Amino acid sequence: MKIHNFNAGPSILPKEVVKKSAQSVINFNDTGLSVLEISHRSMDFLEIIEKTTFLIKRMMGLNEDYAVLFLQGGATLQFSMIPYNLMYKKAAYLDTGFWAYNAIKEAKKFGVVKVLFSGKNINYTSIEKDYHIPCNMDYFHCTSNNTIVGTQMKIFPKTSTPIVCDMSSDIFSRKLDFCQFSLIYASAQKNIGSAGMTIVIIKKEILGKNKKNIPSYMDYKIHIQNNSILNTPNVFSIYTSMLTLEWIENQGGLFVLEKKNQHKAKLLYNEIDKNSLFENKIHEENRSNMNVSFFLKNKDLEKEFNKIWKKENIVGLDGHRYLGGYRASIYNALPLESVQFLIEIMKEFERKFS
Ligand code: PMP
Repeated sequence: MKIHNFNAGPSILPKEVVKKSAQSVINFNDTGLSVLEISHRSMDFLEIIEKTTFLIKRMMGLNEDYAVLFLQGGATLQFSMIPYNLMYKKAAYLDTGFWAYNAIKEAKKFGVVKVLFSGKNINYTSIEKDYHIPCNMDYFHCTSNNTIVGTQMKIFPKTSTPIVCDMSSDIFSRKLDFCQFSLIYASAQKNIGSAGMTIVIIKKEILGKNKKNIPSYMDYKIHIQNNSILNTPNVFSIYTSMLTLEWIENQGGLFVLEKKNQHKAKLLYNEIDKNSLFENKIHEENRSNMNVSFFLKNKDLEKEFNKIWKKENIVGLDGHRYLGGYRASIYNALPLESVQFLIEIMKEFERKFS
């Protein structure tokens, strides 16, 4: 039975990744052991961690100035780990949505936070481009894709201040100049492996200036020294991430996926704009290519629409609990056919109810 999985996260994974992971849960690389049973200090696992790091750096065009870490605690832990390591006095943040707001809330516990733009009063429907980053900021924090409301930053500021970016919901979905960032973090699972792991990519030169006595798990330097195995990492999640990165390369890499993602998003936004029953509230130039939010203009039709898409084996289309409406998450692994199928359902609904 074909299921169209529009979940926001954990979300759809490439079929090949699920299949290979399932085989490896039974017998990993003909070792006779499950991937769930290997030691995190074994050669088998060291190879996984090395390969995953290598693939990430190659895909992003990053050299040895950068370290790649696989941590736990989600992006949520990064909200405090970042200021703990990088904030001496002040940092600049963009408040572009729920997760950005949470990052700001945590950072305020460590020092002064200057919010350069807040979209709160406009329900986060657009992202300001013209803001000024004062020169005395320890870093500038932004969220490249706002998963809940469905906005995405298309350009990043040119600044000498280190840029820290939460890419949890659009990492590996497009080609960017990744060298412009001093720290990138992304928690699984959307475009990377199974949940329970957060990738942190750090330009090493930004560390060590803060002389605070940081608890070991919170200290990036200690994780770098320990090659992400300071404590037991999430072996399975790192393994599935490696498989997902291999899948991305087999698809042709970030540029190819970016084009596919743009195409899927364009088709869906076109339908929402054309269809008399639906609307999208996001400023056109900030529309996300990963999370497409939309609403029924007439809320009374919700029951009918919900009945139809659920019957057609579409899952995960409900909007976030804070927002209501609908959200189609169309990450890398979501096939074009699922988007086309949803569009057909929306067209059919319009024919019946407009
Ligand atoms: N940032 C963004 C952009 C997110 O989408 C999410 C949720 N997936 C988070 C942060 C929080 O991540 P976690 O639940 O892994 O802490």
